Order: sequence, then C-alpha cells, then structure tokens
Amino acid sequence: MLHGYCPPERFLSYLTWTQIADLPDKANTVIVLPAGSTEQHGPHLPCAVDTIIAAGVMGHALARLPASVPAYALAPITYGKSDEHLHFPGTVTLDGTTLLETVTQIGESVYRMGFRKLLIVNGHGGQPQVMEMAARELRLRHGDYVVLPHFTWRVPNVAGQFMTDREKRLSMHAGHAETAILMALAPHTVHMEHAVANYPPEFPSKVLSGDGRPACAWTARDFGTSGVIGDPLPATPEQGQAILDSLAQSWAQGIQDLFAMHWIERDAQTWGRSHHIGDIAST
Ligand SMILES: [Zn+2]
Repeated sequence: MLHGYCPPERFLSYLTWTQIADLPDKANTVIVLPAGSTEQHGPHLPCAVDTIIAAGVMGHALARLPASVPAYALAPITYGKSDEHLHFPGTVTLDGTTLLETVTQIGESVYRMGFRKLLIVNGHGGQPQVMEMAARELRLRHGDYVVLPHFTWRVPNVAGQFMTDREKRLSMHAGHAETAILMALAPHTVHMEHAVANYPPEFPSKVLSGDGRPACAWTARDFGTSGVIGDPLPATPEQGQAILDSLAQSWAQGIQDLFAMHWIERDAQTWGRSHHIGDIAST
C-alpha cells in the first residue's frame, strides 16, 4: 500500500477531505514531508536508497509517537535533484528549479489545508540547498508558517560508532551507514556480493577543506566507475537496526519538540524589528 513505512493512521492522504477539514489543532499538527531521490547507489544498493531512508526513518519515528501528538506524513517525494549521478543508469533527476517549485507548491498546499507546521526531511545529500530555499520562500509568503528543512542523518544517532575515521570524513554515497540501514529497512534490495569500496582523493588543501572532503564541485563519475563514494563492506544488519532505532528515536523527539514549539509569528504587514529571536518560547 501507498503508506510504505508510515503507520497507516498517520498517513495524511488516507484521510478524506472532510476528515482533514475537521482535524483539531491544525496549527500545531506536524506535517512530515520525506524528500528522497532516485539515483544510482553503486552496484550493491537500489536507486531508491535516499527515498527509502527518508520515508523509512520517518515512518519508524511516527510509529514511536504517543497518540496525543498529532503528526502525519505525506507521501515522499521520490524524485530529486540528482544530476551529479546522471551518468549512471537508473538515475531520474529533476533540475533544481523544478524541485524548488515542487517543494514550494507542496508546502503551499499544506498551508492551504490549515496546517502551520511543516517538517521537510531530506534524505539526499545533493539537495539540502533546494529544501532550504523552498522553506525560506514559504516563510516569506506566510509569517505564521513554521517550516523546518532538515537532513535525515543530521540528528543524534549511533552510526559514527561503527565507522572508521576515514569513512566519517570521506564517505558520501552508498557507503557504510547507508548500506547498513538499507539492510534493516529493505534487506532484499541489498547485494553485498557486488559491494566495492571507493574513496575520493584527499582534497589537496587543508585551508579549503579541513577534513579532506572534496571542496570543488564534483560528479560521481569523477571518483571512479562504481558510483560508490565510501566503504560499504563493513556494514551489517545489526548495525543497521541500531542506526535506524537511534534515528527514529531522535526524530520522534524532534517531532514532539516541533509540536510543542512556539516559533516567531509575524503578520503579512509586519516588517523589520517588531519581533526578535528572544520571542521564541516552548510550552
Ligand atoms: Zn544516498
């Protein structure tokens, strides 16, 4: 069914329009939009990795919420801006303008329904800028709209415990952490017999890149023919389950924090200095 990893009772599109119209406390209800991609992830992982991770982690997070916290997920965006991978079959990419417009219009639709809290959880490292631009555009249009663009992996989780220093610094795509969590979320799609390790070269300037990650623009084929950027070989299903549990726990807390949060409000005519950061308070 369409809800995938999301508990069906928290999948917004399973509700009728009248049920959505009658929902209580829509101003604080958290609407979760997982944003993924469809792009090559090496010879051992499916092209849907980023969508599976964003939707899978948020589904597990929503399943952990107390019933008293109102939150619903939209169907994930399954196509993203993946042009750094377009030299490999399986990659389906939108350009940045199209994705920006897509996310903005989905956000407008959520606002039009009466919701005022939108959490965009992006699973693809090639498009956080687009999510941030869409979120800012929505905020400019609506001073009572709380829009939070975030990255699936950028909340407390245990992935680092399993990774080497080199992997933490240089892995960017289809490496240890993504492979492990796929073993937990969609084991039948992982083909470890084809897994290979492949790292980018250390960046030749400590000033321009302190951790050695590539600072110049790149595409995946710049680093080799496999499409992998990292080392998937040490990944295990047990690690993947631990990583998934820790991400889901953090995101469940994050959704509850967003539900309870009172972010700054401004009306459409308010410009300049009538509000400031000190106005933020939690209940
Ligand atoms: Zn990925």
